This record gives sequence, structure tokens and C-alpha cells, in this order.
Amino acid sequence: MRLNSEQMRYFGAVVLKESERCLHIALLKSEKNPHKDTLRNLFQSFILEFTEITESKFLIHLQEAEQKETLQNLLEKIQQEIKLDSKEYGLQEGKSSVQELVYFILQRAVLERASDVHLEFDVQNMRIRFRIDGVLVEKFCLESWVFLPMSASIKLLAHLNLTEAKLPQDGRFGLELISNNGLKRGFDFRVSTLPLVQGESIVIRILDKHKTLMPLEALGFGEAELAQIQTLAMLPFGLVLITGPTGSGKSTTMYGILNILKERNLKIITLEDPVEYRLEHINQVAISKEVEFVSVLRNVLRQDPDVISLGEVRDKASLQLAIQAAFTGHLVFATLHTNDALDSIVRLLDMGVEAHFITQSLSGILAQRLLRKLCDCKEKIDAKWIPKGCAKCNYTGYFGRIAIVEVVLSSRDLEHFIKGKISKMQMLEILQSATQNFTLEQKARVLIERGITDECEVYRVVKNALYC
Ligand SMILES: [Zn+2]
Repeated sequence: MRLNSEQMRYFGAVVLKESERCLHIALLKSEKNPHKDTLRNLFQSFILEFTEITESKFLIHLQEAEQKETLQNLLEKIQQEIKLDSKEYGLQEGKSSVQELVYFILQRAVLERASDVHLEFDVQNMRIRFRIDGVLVEKFCLESWVFLPMSASIKLLAHLNLTEAKLPQDGRFGLELISNNGLKRGFDFRVSTLPLVQGESIVIRILDKHKTLMPLEALGFGEAELAQIQTLAMLPFGLVLITGPTGSGKSTTMYGILNILKERNLKIITLEDPVEYRLEHINQVAISKEVEFVSVLRNVLRQDPDVISLGEVRDKASLQLAIQAAFTGHLVFATLHTNDALDSIVRLLDMGVEAHFITQSLSGILAQRLLRKLCDCKEKIDAKWIPKGCAKCNYTGYFGRIAIVEVVLSSRDLEHFIKGKISKMQMLEILQSATQNFTLEQKARVLIERGITDECEVYRVVKNALYC
């Protein structure tokens, strides 16, 4: 860096670009800035070109420089501490520099709205990547030596075994950090470690109740779909399937529905793997790998529940039990990984469930996706909105996400489809004639037309859509 943060602040100057002979410097109040001559003296071997910069842009550059310096200072301190104490990385004496580095990275992750922090190690480097709005972004690339002390510090926080390097481990911890609105509050973190040929991979999930436990209205569903989902939540019994790939917001929708159900004075039991958020008035069961899903479900049914939320159903025995529960008076929610709503019927049949069982129990299916929204910095070119990129969106062009969902309620036609009397194509035609923009692709197209998202994002998320 040609200017450190202190100098930047003093001169009101940012070095934007540097070539062999020339420095491009952006100045606050370029016309009246009194430091031009000082800067010329400072960089005598260069020709200086001055441009103007706005205060908001200047502050972003300043913040970036300060972050780099903090990181650099921490790394130097850690190196010194390691030299002093080659094994313990200074971790035993209160808050060490390694811990400060971990806090610094988690604080950045929270401020940048990340859902996960990935720490990956290869021979030369350690990469730190954030998942923001569902997409991985590389944030820091550090020298590889820092991985070991960082890994030890994180394991210590999460009460994991420091010496275990051959087996995967998981744990959690809580920290007070500054949230996006500038206020300090508690955050929970779930840590997972995986031994690799090259060393180890550590992923820290940021469990943010404020983000996951949102009312359904805040997810971006259309009014019609919202009404359909609310209808499903008011049913006395039946099976409701929520489908979509990992990261499509299924659990957020599930929690949103449970929130509505909570008001109805019902006994609600959820089976979760693992339980990420503790919820009031809901009985949450943590599924562990050691216990058979189906036997847990049997025990749950003996608890006289009104509503059961199952998460992913993996085997036929559990599925049959869930379906049985649904037509013997329980409202059962289960999630599946399928492309669209109708595919989940095909999946159930493939798993060996008989068609008449499905028709008797199934109340509805939701299929959903999350699309990244174009950031406010978007540009309109030839009547098309395209992503541009600014500091707010990390130069990705996208900021925040919106959910799209297709909802299929049980009907005579659906029964015919389940029994194989009509094809998927015919069923789709029926659904499309009853509801405008029924499919996920059609809903995505509406969002493209309104400039909320773009074709590339739709192509990334709704794979079978023919865009881009
Ligand atoms: Zn932007």
C-alpha cells in the first residue's frame, strides 16, 4: 500500500491505480485539497494524476485499508507469540492474538451477512471464504502457517478435542458481536471439522435467529402462495411436503409455518438434525446418527402430538410411518430434495409408497428456491437490468435474496396424477390453467421482468430454466 490508513485520513487521498510511472490518486475535494504538493514530494519518482472522490466512496477505501492493517498487525503478533511459545500459540493466557484474529474474521462475516465461514488449507495458503446469499466468496488469503493456531483457537472455543486430527468433530459456541444495525448482540456458531489429505477443513455456520426465524410474509412469496401456505397450516391433519435443494430456504419456510401453528395451542414436535435454533413452545428432538430415525418417530407418536415436523425423510419405513400418522389425525411436515412439486410424488412412488396411501394423506406440496436480488447498483441496458457491483454488494451485483415457491394443493386431478391416470405434462397444464405463472420458472421470469433478479441468477438456481 502506497498510503497507510493514517495517511489516507490525513491527506484525504486514496491511491486508486499504480503504473510504472504514474500514480492515480483520488482526492476528497480535489480542487481545494491542500495536500497536493506534499503528495508530489512524497512520490517524487511518479507523475501524479488527481481525480475527485466522494466522501462515501473514500470511507469504503479507508475501511478496507484499516481492515488490511488490522489483519497484518494480528498476523505479526501471532508470529511473535508462536516464537515465544511454540506449542500453545499463546492460547492459554486469556485472549490471545489468534483469538482476536478469529473474532475479527467472524465479525467481518456477520457484517457481510455471511451464513458460513470456510477455512481451507492447502500447502501454501489458507483461504477464508464466506457464503453470502448462497454463493461462496473468497475474503482472505493468508499464509498457511496461520491455519494451525487458528484451528486450535476455534476448537478451543467450540470445546472440541484439540489433539484429534483424524476424526470429524462438531461443536458450537456463542459470541457477542456487532450486528448490521451497529448494535452488539449474541450470535451462535456451529463448527464442523473434517480431516483432509491436505490437513483439515473447518466450516463455521453462523446461526442467526433473526435471519432464519422470519415470518412467512417477509420471505417474498406472492400473495396467492402465501394464502395457500396459510391454508395448509390451518389443516387439522395431513401430509405437507416441502421440497427443494439444500440452501433453498426450506427450513426458513418450515419455521415460518411452525410460527403460525404455535398460535393454535397445539402439541408440536420437530425432529431435527441437528437442532440449530431452540424455539419456545415447540418440542425439538435432535436426531443423532446412532439412533434409528424410525424408532425416534415411533416414540414421538406416543407423545400425543398434533403436529410433527420431520425434516428430511430418508428411508421407506419412516416415510410409511409418517404417512400413516398423517391420515390418523396428525399434521405432518416433511422435506424432500426434488426439483419441483410434482417430482416429489414420483419420488414417493419410487420409494415404494403405494399410490392410495399418498392420495389418502397428502394435503399439499411446496417447491421452493431462493434467488439473489440485484443490488441497487444495477444498470438498465437495452431494457434489461444487469448486475454491476459496488462496495455494498461486495462487487457481486447482488444483495439479499427472495423466495419463489410453487404450491400444489390436493385435488381430484392430483389424485389422478398420483394414480398414473394422467401424465406430469397433463397435470402441469391443469395447474397452469388454474394459476397464472404457476411454475418456478414462470415466477422467476416475472422477477426478471421487474428487475428484481436477472437471467444468470435464475439459470444458476432454477437449473431447468432455459435462460442465459
Ligand atoms: Zn451493488
